[in-house]
Amino acid sequence: MQRKYIVVTGGVLSGLGKGIAMASIGNILSSSYKVVPIKCDGYLNVDPGTMNPIEHGEVFVLDDGGEVDMDFGHYERFLGVPCNGDWNLTMGRVFDEIRKKERRGDYLGKTVQMIPHVSNFIREHFLKVGDDAKADVVMIEVGGTIGDMENELYLDAVRSLARKVGRENILFVHLTYVPIPYGVDEQKSKPTQQSVNLLRQRGIDPDVVIARCSEMLTDSIKGKIAKFGNLDFDKVLTGIDVDDVYKIPLSFEEQGMSQLIARRLNMPIRVDLDRWKCLIEKRERATREIVVGIAGKYTSLEDSYASIIEALRHCEATLGVRVKLRWIDTEKDDCCNLDGVDGVIVPGGFGSRGVEGKIDVVKFCREKGVPFLGICYGLQMAVIEFARNVCGLNGANTTEVDKNCKHPVVDIMESQKSVTEKGGTMRLGAYVAYIKKGSKVFDLYGNDEVSERHRHRYEVNPVYHGALEGKGLVLSGISPDGTLVEFIELENHPYFVATQAHPELKSSLLKPAPLFLGFVKAAIRYKV
Ligand code: GLN
Repeated sequence: MQRKYIVVTGGVLSGLGKGIAMASIGNILSSSYKVVPIKCDGYLNVDPGTMNPIEHGEVFVLDDGGEVDMDFGHYERFLGVPCNGDWNLTMGRVFDEIRKKERRGDYLGKTVQMIPHVSNFIREHFLKVGDDAKADVVMIEVGGTIGDMENELYLDAVRSLARKVGRENILFVHLTYVPIPYGVDEQKSKPTQQSVNLLRQRGIDPDVVIARCSEMLTDSIKGKIAKFGNLDFDKVLTGIDVDDVYKIPLSFEEQGMSQLIARRLNMPIRVDLDRWKCLIEKRERATREIVVGIAGKYTSLEDSYASIIEALRHCEATLGVRVKLRWIDTEKDDCCNLDGVDGVIVPGGFGSRGVEGKIDVVKFCREKGVPFLGICYGLQMAVIEFARNVCGLNGANTTEVDKNCKHPVVDIMESQKSVTEKGGTMRLGAYVAYIKKGSKVFDLYGNDEVSERHRHRYEVNPVYHGALEGKGLVLSGISPDGTLVEFIELENHPYFVATQAHPELKSSLLKPAPLFLGFVKAAIRYKV
């Protein structure tokens, strides 16, 4: 089969869920085809790694160490393919490459221009990703909202892609919004009409319009959108508001998505959503509820912890339980008394704000036997707490917070000491750890060798390994060279496990992350 392309653009508003919409279409196709996602971001940062999670949401990390947009979390969770860093284009990256090409002399004699040079470069990148990944279907999400200046070059690139690969091999999906204004109380199609017009002014005729709405679109509104958008009636779908994003592939499929794509791109599609559906229903039927505390400093913005929340959802579906989140602001809340929680996660983080509160949270969990899962900075907090309160090392800290602390039990990694640039220089991506047989972590993974993704500069200081172990901290997973502590746990505690890695990044509905599954099971037992 000739390679197919599906391009997703957005109109009217930002935040309508283009990433989820694209991931959901990909999910429907992924039982028959290898689907590879590309995301195009308009900003001038080379990657989101240097952005504040409050501004941009979680930074997602891939196996190859790529720091990418959080939409890649949706793609991986919905498509089941591990993604590559170069599938996330940013304008920063594009201009970097163009400048390198110009200096090398690739354009000798020419005036280098936005169109055609930059636009062609982007188009060639789309083609190359498809070739390198041997993809059946390449999906391209153009970031932002139609009309944004910073995304114009991407739109020109997908327009010219259509000319290159043939209009019969590319499908344009446009996601818009149908409001129901207060007092008017009816669905309004005008913003969608205008947004489709903007797209057509750029030489792109959408094949499918998905309109986000709080109700299913009425036939009359669908008809209007179809007429003004020059589309068939059945190519206008509702992007219905849902309480659970995993339902979106099911909703699209109920509205005939796979048939529509099959006909338009001339490709047979076998859809298999049975297990997916089963898990969603199990989650929905669940009546048991546990309360999980998440102790961090970005608790005001759930997007900062998106993958952790998703990993808990995956456990909900597998175990048939509802996980209610309790956000613990470690700068403001009382962290020494967490009554009412059945388990606590201390997630990744950076810098000194809220650190002492996190350490208090760990102490509370360790002493009271409350299930605890520490992730990255969470592991480092657990080590500091153990060093201070069990090993008696007063003044134990991380040098990230206090350079001159008396006991630097967490210190910068040797390999990081010479690093001066901030972007893309942490210990990033998938690394293998050897797991101690007989440990809880070994039980959970069922393996003595596991690979998880990382994003950090600091480590448990090897000088203190002996002191920590001497007092009963189990170093249950170590890097192959024996220097880096990747997993720790405590015996005689219902569940006290932490990892230097980010296991939430590889969790999926069909295969929840083992450490999260173990944690939620322990929280269920704790509650009883
Ligand atoms: N700030 C810590 C480090 O750099 C932890 C990072 C994280 O939690 N991702 O090592």
